Amino acid sequence: MHNEVTPLLSRALKDLLGAPRTGVDAEAESAALASLAGVCVDGQWSDGTGRALTVINPAIGMPLATVLGGESGAVDAAARAAAQASETWRRTPLAERADCLEKIARTVDAHRSALAELQMLNNGKPMAEAEIDVGDVVATFNYYASLCRSGAGLGTAPVALPDPAFQADVSFEPCGVVGLIVPWNFPMVTTAWKLAPALAAGCTVVLKPSDMTPLAEIALLRLIQQCGLPTGTVNMVCGGADVGVALTQHAGIAKISFTGSTAAGASIMRAAANRIQRVSLELGGKSAFIVLADADLDEAVSLAISGAFFNAGQMCSATSRILIEESVYAEFTRRFVERAAQLQTGDARDPATTLGPLISQAHWERVRGFVDLGKQAAELLLGGDDTPREGFFMNPVVFGDVPVSATIWREEIFGPVACLRSFSSDEEAARIANDSDYGLVATIATRDTARANVLSERLQVGTVWINTPQLIFPQTGWGGFKKSGIGRELGPWGLKAFQEIRHVVRSAA
Ligand code: NAD
Repeated sequence: MHNEVTPLLSRALKDLLGAPRTGVDAEAESAALASLAGVCVDGQWSDGTGRALTVINPAIGMPLATVLGGESGAVDAAARAAAQASETWRRTPLAERADCLEKIARTVDAHRSALAELQMLNNGKPMAEAEIDVGDVVATFNYYASLCRSGAGLGTAPVALPDPAFQADVSFEPCGVVGLIVPWNFPMVTTAWKLAPALAAGCTVVLKPSDMTPLAEIALLRLIQQCGLPTGTVNMVCGGADVGVALTQHAGIAKISFTGSTAAGASIMRAAANRIQRVSLELGGKSAFIVLADADLDEAVSLAISGAFFNAGQMCSATSRILIEESVYAEFTRRFVERAAQLQTGDARDPATTLGPLISQAHWERVRGFVDLGKQAAELLLGGDDTPREGFFMNPVVFGDVPVSATIWREEIFGPVACLRSFSSDEEAARIANDSDYGLVATIATRDTARANVLSERLQVGTVWINTPQLIFPQTGWGGFKKSGIGRELGPWGLKAFQEIRHVVRSAA
């Protein structure tokens, strides 16, 4: 298996990651290991002097590459370069900004298959899921290009006043140099959701990818460098939490836009408090999937399977709490377990593969710990007997009759673990769904649109899907209530997140 993967890595390296420091000679290829520059400041790539990050292919548990990450000095240099580039980028006419964003979309699109391969290698995502990720990046850059082109929510606009003696207008200003910190589960996608609106707003950027999946961002930035942005507009420092902390503490960073765990989000808020630094936080979730008795059960099962097991359940939006109306609980559960048992782990490139690996051994053990806790609290209906093997795969796990007090019902597991329980009224379904620290998303399956609409109004979440898969359009906002975060990404709200507003009021005389 290892040998099968090597040629893909070499092509990805050649096409997307720049010349590896060790050179891709035959020997290096067979070792499938190369060290890559992990710092990009003012358009120049260099080996960071921080931690060397060993990037693992989670499908085989073997190293793919070493990325030479940065430290606080690199963060400082990157922030300074971004500040200098800001003078040019914030004044770049909107039509030119739109041209650059469209060019990024086109360039990513032109490298679609290589980028998807990279996602498969670095995340273990099945091919279909990796392709969705790349399509999402293209759509996001195109959407913010179109906002730039239209000028909506950008530039300066008049404000209607009740007194004719005065006139006012409002300017939407870029908030300055922004620090973007992203996780490993959808690396290119979470980056695009921040980077495209930040650039559209006129901000310049220091990007910090996850230490587990920096390859996607390295590739993305190398492509962006071909797209006509002023040098230093987008800078990158690879590294772990220490680099993220350095970003949050840097006086030159006006805003942190963070996606990741709720615990790290809280820590970033604390760091930001001292300087009243702006923050946007996209955090965890423990979302509900509500099956009403009149639903098309086969369709509901399909939607619930992808809601719980897409990306091996490593999704902030995983609908892992599945609430089923009493009268169909037994039948839905039977069909759900049958379908979950058909999911297949394996090579990302095999179209039969529907369940990729978890991201790391440590994460596998964490998820396995939750499964063991679940066995003491609820009825185990499927799986739960995985032992470590080559690659960090875990077969689907399904628990039934899960008490609302159980740890597996309340805490974000971030793995292929679904928890089922019944409810007897819509009021009870809404109450149980809302009984969570989080409030990111929910799904409702029913044939009764009116009933779904009433129920959706009761749910304390940022997005409700009714009889649809987890579609996220760039036009619709993304984010959550409660501990799922602060602010919204995507749509015009994603742009506003990178703006300050200035009003000028003058005498009309
Ligand atoms: P994480 O919080 O451990 O790390 C996320 C990023 O933050 C990484 O780049 C990490 O190096 C950095 N980081 C960690 N601690 C930091 C600190 N104190 N200061 C600054 N930077 C810090 O999360 P993860 O394990 O990479 O990702 C999984 C989590 O992300 C889950 O909780 C998931 O729900 C959440 N997530 C949320 C969304 C959303 O849109 N709401 C999307 C994807 C993932």
